[in-house]
Amino acid sequence: MQRSAESRRCYACGSPRLLRHKELYKLSLAHIDCDAFYAAVEKRDNPELLDKPLIIGGGTRGVVSTACYLARIHGVRSAMPMFKALEACPQAVVIPPNMEKYSKVGREVRQLMRELTPAVEPLSIDEAFLDLSGTENLHKAPASFVLAKFVQRIEKEIGITISVGLSYCKFLAKIASDLNKPRGFAVIGEEEALTFLRDKPVSIIWGVGKALTAKLNSDGIRTIEQLQSTEENVLMKSYGVMGQRLYRLSRGQDTRRVEPEHEMKSISAETTFNHDLSSSDDLVPVLRALSEKVSHRLKNGEIAGHTVVLKLKTQDFKSRTRNRQLSSPTQLADRIFHTGLSLLEKELDGTKFRLLGIGVSDLSGNERADPPDLVDIEATRRAKAENAMDFLRNKFGQKAVETGYTFGKSGLGRPQTPSEHVKREEKD
Ligand SMILES: [Mg+2]
Repeated sequence: MQRSAESRRCYACGSPRLLRHKELYKLSLAHIDCDAFYAAVEKRDNPELLDKPLIIGGGTRGVVSTACYLARIHGVRSAMPMFKALEACPQAVVIPPNMEKYSKVGREVRQLMRELTPAVEPLSIDEAFLDLSGTENLHKAPASFVLAKFVQRIEKEIGITISVGLSYCKFLAKIASDLNKPRGFAVIGEEEALTFLRDKPVSIIWGVGKALTAKLNSDGIRTIEQLQSTEENVLMKSYGVMGQRLYRLSRGQDTRRVEPEHEMKSISAETTFNHDLSSSDDLVPVLRALSEKVSHRLKNGEIAGHTVVLKLKTQDFKSRTRNRQLSSPTQLADRIFHTGLSLLEKELDGTKFRLLGIGVSDLSGNERADPPDLVDIEATRRAKAENAMDFLRNKFGQKAVETGYTFGKSGLGRPQTPSEHVKREEKD
């Protein structure tokens, strides 16, 4: 990146990749995205694959998870059915995904990102926003230099490549990282934002999916330029709150901040009752409902907990906390509930409780969670049933399926919903 006036190469490292930009010393918001991540990790681990088209996919869903760039030349794309991918590229090597390995590499990359700035907001296993503003003193260099070095570091230490988008806001940083993939480094400055966006399709805007694109198109709006020349109130009249977003983003106005991820210590849900409760008939349905809430959060966050924690508060405000460590981390409502139930049963001695909570701690990724249990066939069967319920809930909403424990039990005399909440305890 550093260059002498007449040189076509960097005088510091000899690279022919030179980047010039007016705002290069000013911009500090980056989006970093690993290139063909799963495929890159597999190629790193097996050099024989380097010059072969590689598809990570198959398995249960029968679609392409990631295609390497060689396979993409033949027209293979992510989410394509495997049979189509192999029609397009019959010579491709196919490897089933090894999520455990990719999560590990993803965490290593994230760890190195955190050495640049604490403001790292992961979007998925292989991409994140980084806010490097205010780090110039620490690194003794502007963000663009720090990022260029980071690209080299990832290649050397992790053995994969990344693409960087550098801008002044999230919206354009994310677009930029995609511009010169793979091994891309693109910059979109404030001055050029309007012109850059002008001829782009509306679908490039974050939050404009298939349905909204179709609606905008049918209203005659195809390019961002058309949005740029429409007044805010007109857009809001037609598209509601989204209209305001269209107005702002089409003009490169995006004030969303990079929200760093906090390491969570535990995830729990608890309820304070209207009337103090003491019987298992009253408490068990609540425990079940709360277990499902906790599990929902874990599944959404792709995390699992190794220890189940039951919390009770008695009528006279005394807390009782009971834990049990499991043989493996879990994210299943069923395992959380049954473990919680065995802890709860010991506490049911007529004491009246004003609060019940259940949660998990010792959090980790979900790679090792809930292995098929060869000993407890019943638990395996229930885990399968739970997966089927999750599928229905994802499709038709949380309330679509209720278990026998909670069915029809949300009526009178039951806990108030306003005081029921899910807690995330965070490490500082
Ligand atoms: Mg990626």
